[in-house]
Amino acid sequence: MILVLWDIDRTLLYTGDTDRLVYRELFEEVVGRPAERLPARGTGVTMPLAVRELLCANAVEPERIEELAQRIVQRMPAQLERHRGDLSRTGQVMPGAPAALAAVHQEPGLVPTVVTGNLRGSAEIKLKALGLDEYLDLGIGGYSSDDSHRPALVHVAQQRAGTRHGCTFTRETTVIIGDSLEDVRTGREGGAHVIGVASGTTSAEKLAEAGACHVAPDLTDIQRIIRLIDQCAASDVDQGCPEPRQDAMPEEFR
Ligand SMILES: [Mg+2]
Repeated sequence: MILVLWDIDRTLLYTGDTDRLVYRELFEEVVGRPAERLPARGTGVTMPLAVRELLCANAVEPERIEELAQRIVQRMPAQLERHRGDLSRTGQVMPGAPAALAAVHQEPGLVPTVVTGNLRGSAEIKLKALGLDEYLDLGIGGYSSDDSHRPALVHVAQQRAGTRHGCTFTRETTVIIGDSLEDVRTGREGGAHVIGVASGTTSAEKLAEAGACHVAPDLTDIQRIIRLIDQCAASDVDQGCPEPRQDAMPEEFR
């Protein structure tokens, strides 16, 4: 069996400005003044880390950051839920995503769930708002509500999926499909092969240089995606995934 870990934002769906609106509203509510700077777009950083960065970037006193971050993170799913109508109206399903999800779900031997920088509550709201939850077993995923260190979420999902299916998932039998350098790092450090999808803010070239086993432009070629999953799992780790070029990765990933 192969565990297939889908990233969510900019791989399966795009929420437009809704995420940033939630950050903006909760910052103002909890800190008591408007945020002047918001998190960068499309980085794949987990929500708890993005909130800490948001507080730092807006000159919140260091000794208050932990407490305020926890308060903001706690409120994020409920605040996103308030914008479910916006999500359904302005959010976009990425090209090919519904058919790719269905194909992976139907393929014998593949176990599909998510590994995401979203909190579990936020992930469920986004996927349900855009009708993409049907072909994912969300009960066995890895979420930033489990751990704010994204690579740790691979092990979380492997354990949950292993318990559910009565087997052991390892690097050789786990494949992440995602759009960002964080997805590539998550696979390399957390123990999974990575198929990069160049549908986000990171180019195919950058994803490959960072160490993605394979890169697809988007999810529209379903047979190719299925083939790449099989190739990842069949490949020897050293031969299948090139070492990343050091200059291909941002400073904080080295
Ligand atoms: Mg993403």
